[in-house]
Amino acid sequence: MGLNDSSPGAMRNGRGLSDQWAETVVVRPRTTERHITVHKRLVLGFALSILTLIIVTAVAVVLSVRFEDCGSRDVATGESGSRGSAKLNGSKGERGDEEGVQPWRNLRLPGTLRPRHYDLRIAVYMDNFTFSGEVSIELECINATRFIVLHTDRLEVDRVSVTAEGGANGRPANRPGGGAMRIHRHFPHPTTQMHVVVLHRELKPLRVYRLNISFEAAIENELLGFFRSSYTLHREKRFLALTQFSPIHARKAFPCFDEPVYKATFSVTLRHDAQYTALSNMPEEQSVLEEDGSITTRFSRTPRMSTYYLAWAVCNFTFRETTSDTGVTIRLYARPDAISSGSGDYALHITKRLLGFYQDYFKVQYSLPKLDLLAVPKHPYAAMENWGLSVFVEQKILLDAEVSSSSYQMELTMVVVHEICHQWFGDLVTPVWWEDVWLKEGFAHYFEYVGTDFLFPKWNMEKQRFLTDVLHEVMLLDGLNSSHPISQEVAQAADIDRVFDWIAYKKGAALIRMLANVMGQTLFQRGLNDYLLSHMYGNAARDDLWSKLTQAMRSEGLQIDIGQMMDRWTLQMGYPIVTISKNQSEQLPTHYITVHQEHFLYSQEAKSNNSLLWQIPLTVAVGNASSVGSESLIWINNKTETHRIGQMDDSTWLLGNINQTGYFRVNYDLANWKLLIQQLHNNPEIISVGNRAGLIDDAFNLARAGYLPQGVPLQLIGYLPEEPSFLPWHSASRALYQLDKLLDRTDEYSLFSDYVLKQVAARYHRMGWPTNVPGSEGNVLQASYQTEELQRELIMLACSFGNKQCHRQAVTYISDWISSNKNRIPPNIRDIVYCTGVSLMDEDVWEFIWMKFHSTSAVSEKKILLEALTCSDNTFLLNRLLNLSLTSDLVPEQDVIDVIIHVGRNPQGRNLAWKYFREKWDILNARYSEALFMNSKLIGGVTEFLNTEKELNELKEFIQANNLGAGPAMPRSLEIVEGNVRWHRLHRRHFFQWLRKSPNSNLG
Ligand SMILES: [Zn+2]
Repeated sequence: MGLNDSSPGAMRNGRGLSDQWAETVVVRPRTTERHITVHKRLVLGFALSILTLIIVTAVAVVLSVRFEDCGSRDVATGESGSRGSAKLNGSKGERGDEEGVQPWRNLRLPGTLRPRHYDLRIAVYMDNFTFSGEVSIELECINATRFIVLHTDRLEVDRVSVTAEGGANGRPANRPGGGAMRIHRHFPHPTTQMHVVVLHRELKPLRVYRLNISFEAAIENELLGFFRSSYTLHREKRFLALTQFSPIHARKAFPCFDEPVYKATFSVTLRHDAQYTALSNMPEEQSVLEEDGSITTRFSRTPRMSTYYLAWAVCNFTFRETTSDTGVTIRLYARPDAISSGSGDYALHITKRLLGFYQDYFKVQYSLPKLDLLAVPKHPYAAMENWGLSVFVEQKILLDAEVSSSSYQMELTMVVVHEICHQWFGDLVTPVWWEDVWLKEGFAHYFEYVGTDFLFPKWNMEKQRFLTDVLHEVMLLDGLNSSHPISQEVAQAADIDRVFDWIAYKKGAALIRMLANVMGQTLFQRGLNDYLLSHMYGNAARDDLWSKLTQAMRSEGLQIDIGQMMDRWTLQMGYPIVTISKNQSEQLPTHYITVHQEHFLYSQEAKSNNSLLWQIPLTVAVGNASSVGSESLIWINNKTETHRIGQMDDSTWLLGNINQTGYFRVNYDLANWKLLIQQLHNNPEIISVGNRAGLIDDAFNLARAGYLPQGVPLQLIGYLPEEPSFLPWHSASRALYQLDKLLDRTDEYSLFSDYVLKQVAARYHRMGWPTNVPGSEGNVLQASYQTEELQRELIMLACSFGNKQCHRQAVTYISDWISSNKNRIPPNIRDIVYCTGVSLMDEDVWEFIWMKFHSTSAVSEKKILLEALTCSDNTFLLNRLLNLSLTSDLVPEQDVIDVIIHVGRNPQGRNLAWKYFREKWDILNARYSEALFMNSKLIGGVTEFLNTEKELNELKEFIQANNLGAGPAMPRSLEIVEGNVRWHRLHRRHFFQWLRKSPNSNLG
């Protein structure tokens, strides 16, 4: 599943210039209509439950069955069942009577039955947005039971029947007791989203039964379960209906055993109006025109798979098609106008190449005969990797080469690479339970970089961009005391959304990258291959992966227990800071180093009583002015260790975490920092580009957390005029924008911005502005990616920190656009130019951009135009924009949160956004609270700039008044704001002191 990037590494003046404005999380709409639906449903549900209660009570009295005897079981939690291999939850003696055992009160399914095959027939009524269905489930009995317990949610269950089919080997039930089973009663249990069928007689182990259920429900106007959506074609509104079952919404579309471990095969049949096309995971097997004019489409039987990967869609999209080298048919379905304009061709092209890449890499064939990519106008996530029918929100798959920036193309590419990876990691081998969701998401996120490198080797993503966008990004979050371990216990349905967060995705990817580097490419690949082959069509937990990787190491005589090592990283929160110092003691010779580890935390208070330890693969190299020695790998297990290293003298420096492959920060004694900084000033390229970026990020964050004097990072970036590569610049600009958020309202701000401009000026002028104009071919495909990105980074820094020439250039471009009505601004820097223009020029420019925002149809262009509107210095206009976003439909619902956050990033809009957020909290919360990811993005985005005592108190009051202490978002925001305030209290004075002295200041 692809989350939408919220890029908390924010931009200067919050103007989010490089931010991917295309972060389109679409939330579940809370229209009036839905409220009414919900309301009706509640009333109906209430009436039904009263009725049920009366009947149940009556039956209970008659049968003298005391149903509520076991109220205490209400809170029983199911096994989390993740350690060890994939197993169904063991039955805990379900032989008791109803009065003794009520397995539907547990949060997990009882594990007494296992579904083997589902025959699912759905009739779709697009005229009134309802559907009816019949499911016939072949069940194998594991432990004797009188109860069939499975999931349903919001389904109106109609008829239920059970028949005995015979032995598990398929022998027919020809003895007495075979055939139809008498049902005592069946009822829904909404608290656990289960439906219960109580039989008169027990189901027997090793025998097979068939459960038939007919049901109906609405095709809701919210983005989960089986839902509807719409788009406009030739001024006419068209509808489509599709599914989003991950993580726990298959139960909203049909009764099923909706936990990932209950894999089964599925035969899906859809009946629908003839004007629509039906799609599902498998190819169409048969299509029949019915007497009433509708069409019945039957799809081939799937392989064994989890319920949440099942999918279908009914739409009138068209498609383009290609075939992979191994004969897999790949189609991209989208709005007919998008297909005819060729917007889907790029994604189709890379998908074909990616199937080949993954098949070679994993040495496991893609499992299905076809793969459809479905581009939909609205989706709750960036994309969803349903097996054979992956769904993408349009902004993450359609590309208009002429107007799209390279960052838009890069992001789109990575989403496709991510979802295709899931066809193996996720669809084929599925995590046993949600606490290990990072196993699939971490892998897919890591492979975004590996797979993109395959497509575009010159981008060098895994060695470079991974560092800033994944490693540095997640270490910011994971350095907070409010972070959590990557493996999170998940007991109930409500907790499941919570585990899809950046820790799962980004930390997961960073840990996997660390492991791949420790093992080496060949052994890592061998281990993965063994893991996929052993668990294909089944489930696996992290220990299954660790054991395969350990075996791969042992096959080469390497005795490393991967499980033991990785448990430290996955079961503990946070990460270590490793301090390396040259030996100071008289007893040991000078080529010894002392290494010390502790838990890295931004908050001082939390540091004192923390005793976490990690098993750290530390790579170290020794270098001097002209060369760097080969790296050595040292395993650090204890708090403090001493190690022998190559020859050192007073002029040699030590460098740890070579190429930043490890998930930790490195600190040194001040003398070593000084030598490293000298090296960077004199000849930076002796140190690898990844380490240059890493030194910058570590130095700024160590200073921010109080491990290093404030002058160290400032002096370090004094070398930037000598820096020719994009990545260190990107790392520096991210750190500088972080500081900018803290400083942009201080009296001495210009000391800081002047210092930044001084570092930027020379290279900015040397590189100049891009000359390509729209109309030329796709940007990034031309492979000068690194140069283009560096040029863009420098223009962004120059314009946002106030370089006059940069401002003039932007204004010239905007004036030319307005006077000629031709947009000649190169796509790659349009966001910077628009934003700078709006902030510097008058109200007419704002109106012009507002008008263009409405008239353009290219999704990427629309995003950056809207973003530019938040850059104005005019609070009246900002206020108007905020109000229009929330109360009119002029701004798409999924973009409202971005508008508020971006207004907050603008120093002129900060107070406004903070005030607006609090005033409208009730509305925003009602609209977005169910979409946890959106909710925490909003809360984080609006509060991260707060940094005064007054604002901290306002935040505390707000949390208290609205009772918002629970959930991850508010505690995290509070900790960040407390950190901001603390930085001002403890470090601001030193920071400005250093800047006031000369750039030749000493460290500290
Ligand atoms: Zn994913």
